Amino acid sequence: MSINKPSGPEEEYFAREEAARRQREALENAKKLADAEREAAQKLHYMKCPKCGLDLKEINFKGISIDKCFHCGGMWFDDKEFETLVGHEQTNVFSSIVNVFRAKKVT
Ligand SMILES: [Zn+2]
Repeated sequence: MSINKPSGPEEEYFAREEAARRQREALENAKKLADAEREAAQKLHYMKCPKCGLDLKEINFKGISIDKCFHCGGMWFDDKEFETLVGHEQTNVFSSIVNVFRAKKVT
């Protein structure tokens, strides 16, 4: 151990600061990785059918756009599109489904 090296409380202080800095860096790196993975997944799956994996085609019906798979027949609605198409009445079974399963916005 060098004579000029800080010791005792001072050394502990610097060690704690260094550990805190490295922990922040690790969290930032994890977030960057998560963001990159999400972007890669979005690129890979964008406009692909969630059931069969083939291309979705955008079609317009009653003023709203629907993403449709012409392979398996599935249809994909963006948030509020389905509600716009089937109406807002609370007694409507489709509206009930939409209201029950609507995703909460992540901030
Ligand atoms: Zn499909």
